[in-house]
Amino acid sequence: MQYQDTLSFAQQQDAADPLKHFRERFLFPQHNGKDAVYFTGNSLGLQPKTVRDSVMQELDDWAKFGVEGHFHARRPWKPYHEIFTEQEARLVGALPGEVVMMNQLTVNLHLLMVSFYRPTKQRYKIICEYKAFPSDQYALESQARFHGFNPDEAVIEVSPRAGEELIRHEDILAAIEKHKNELALVLFSGVNYYTGQLFDMKSITAAAHKAGAMAGFDLAHAAGNVKLHLHDWDVDFACWCTYKYLNSGPGSVAGAFVHERHANSDLPRFAGWWGHEKATRFKMEKGFKPIPGAEGWQISNAPVLSMAAHKAALDIFDEAGMDALTAKAEKLTGYLEYIIDTISASQPEEKKLELITPRDKKSRGCQLSVVAHGRGKDLFNKLLDNGVISDWREPNVIRMAPVPLYNSFEDAWRFGEILKQALAL
Ligand SMILES: *Cc1c(COP(=O)(O)O)cnc(C)c1O
Repeated sequence: MQYQDTLSFAQQQDAADPLKHFRERFLFPQHNGKDAVYFTGNSLGLQPKTVRDSVMQELDDWAKFGVEGHFHARRPWKPYHEIFTEQEARLVGALPGEVVMMNQLTVNLHLLMVSFYRPTKQRYKIICEYKAFPSDQYALESQARFHGFNPDEAVIEVSPRAGEELIRHEDILAAIEKHKNELALVLFSGVNYYTGQLFDMKSITAAAHKAGAMAGFDLAHAAGNVKLHLHDWDVDFACWCTYKYLNSGPGSVAGAFVHERHANSDLPRFAGWWGHEKATRFKMEKGFKPIPGAEGWQISNAPVLSMAAHKAALDIFDEAGMDALTAKAEKLTGYLEYIIDTISASQPEEKKLELITPRDKKSRGCQLSVVAHGRGKDLFNKLLDNGVISDWREPNVIRMAPVPLYNSFEDAWRFGEILKQALAL
């Protein structure tokens, strides 16, 4: 596509965008009476207008029924998590029995590792990416310690090569091959939170399995951003949050995937009553019998208020569909990339903007991470003062996510105008 750095070009693209009406369904922070340029849907997605009614419905039913709401609420609370099954399975490319919404992301990562990281004296290593999200680093480190291993020996990070920002796929495969005799688990993100690099989950999974290890993924930056085929890729387990691309509100309920081949496994797990066989759950007796599939990993009863927000958000996602969303994301992210490149080209050498996200559209979602050479946080603050909400990572990286569900080409163009002004100051 031949892009142009003009308002009229951006507006033409918006007019031709089949998803353009979805923007109206979200609440935008305001700047001087106008919608801010909101590029942080990868950190906290915007609030769908329908969330309020969805949450109010549960508050009203709680007021009306009290405890009886478990059975008589319009969406009964006892089986509340079941309302997500079909839609969530579509979103991550799973069979319905392979997904469940429960807890929060890092909690799910730990719970799944209880089952899928079963180190032995011989096989105890975990391969992960360099600069994984800190919560994941802490989870891996503490899991290794919990099993009596030294994390410095047990956790192997695959790094970018010297002078590079991205991790080469062949280096991931080489690390798996190198450690194959001691490898228990390969745990990667789907999309790295810092660089926006999308990993080849299918081939990482195949390599892990060939080495005799499990393969799990943290999809915090992948769910709702890129197409996923967890079942077909043969992934063992995965988890994701819903407050980033999935717009379900701060700290909202998270997701978990367990491949169907583990549906009836006797892998050890941390159990709770909500994972117990439904027919006998309320007999309140000894002897845990897990529900087959992902639901059997539940521990506690459903957090209905955050789930109500997730339901409203997921309905919108399901209506738009990942095919249309990723098609738009490719164009819109490409447009923002073009705007940034064009502006960078007019900067003196020491002030160039360097994109560290993959240029290859197949290796990224909708996030772009840019190193602002020669600039500190002042640049980010100037953007913010002028109505751009992006996100800053020390020492000098700006992360932006033009999300296809509610961002427009005009947002990308406006961002460029504000960036030009900020760079001139
Ligand atoms: C956002 C994010 C988290 C956050 O964890 P919570 O348990 O939801 O607080 C963890 N891991 C990754 C990769 C993330 O991007």
